[in-house]
Amino acid sequence: MHTDFDCIIIGAGAAGLSAGLYAARGRVNTLIIERGDIGGQTATTHLVDNYPGSIENPTGPQLMDRMKEQCLQFGAKISQETLEEVYREGQIFKVTTNKGEYLTKTLIIATGAEPKQAGFKGEKEYRGRGISYCATCDGDFFEDLDVAVIGGGDAAVEEAIYLTRFAKKVTIIHRRDQLRAVKSIQEKAFANEKIDFVWDSVVEEVKGTGVVQSIVLLNKKTNELTELKIDGVFVYIGYTPNSSLFKDLVETDELGYIIGDQEMRTNVPGIFVAGDVRQKSLKQVITAAADGAIAGVNVEKYITENF
Ligand code: NAP
Repeated sequence: MHTDFDCIIIGAGAAGLSAGLYAARGRVNTLIIERGDIGGQTATTHLVDNYPGSIENPTGPQLMDRMKEQCLQFGAKISQETLEEVYREGQIFKVTTNKGEYLTKTLIIATGAEPKQAGFKGEKEYRGRGISYCATCDGDFFEDLDVAVIGGGDAAVEEAIYLTRFAKKVTIIHRRDQLRAVKSIQEKAFANEKIDFVWDSVVEEVKGTGVVQSIVLLNKKTNELTELKIDGVFVYIGYTPNSSLFKDLVETDELGYIIGDQEMRTNVPGIFVAGDVRQKSLKQVITAAADGAIAGVNVEKYITENF
């Protein structure tokens, strides 16, 4: 049976690149398709201080560059194209992108997740004009200015700390009175003199003339509205899985995360899943890379047993 590739991996973040490395190292003819920049979310994270062995600064972009190089060295191909459709044709899959059509024996879905929008008034209009979802990408636009970070999880608090390199002041706005972030990250934030906290509050609206100039905050306990002068707002309130193109193909949970077993197999033979798009509890670079390794190895086994 003719196929163009043994394995197509959708997504070139930590999961996809790790899957590519393991598959290609197992002599699986592998193509990785990526619609955006290579490296996924990790490449837009300034400091990754919990991936074992990565201790230089900055780590995110460098780590992902090295993952990409290693993957290419083992013979995987990486192509920047956008997935449009995936069809099952008997035992194989037809993958259509904006650049072409490929037949493949297996598929690894490693499409990750993307930042959630908070839903306040002006969020869409002011995106790129003071509203951002990526401190690594946009932080240095706010040199000596005041910024707000929305959220209380690891991402919000870590990125708030990172933003203090540039900003005059960083205000973390959290909807409760306790952070969700792990204690070690919380301690760093509480000790940072440039970081302020607004508790029990959500952003109702951003205001400005062309660029963000202030935000309106609602205190959820007192129902009081206040306006805070601010130059930028970074939204870090969690992620949505990039699984919409696969929802009719493989089983997902109610939030859209794809269900895989411990071998990274989905409910469809030949389709594997890895990284943040998979239903799991710990979403980290290391777990994405581990998922990718398991998927890559199991793709090789699956092809040996079925073709
Ligand atoms: P998260 O852990 O889900 O935290 C989301 C935060 O946003 C929570 O504090 C939540 O408030 C708040 N929130 C959610 N919806 C909101 C809304 N509509 N309006 C206002 N606030 C809202 O998400 P995350 O921080 O992006 O992290 C995602 C995953 O990546 C986690 O598993 C995290 O551990 C991991 N991560 C790890 C690291 C690290 O280890 N270095 C760094 C980044 C991310 P509540 O607390 O009230 O729910």
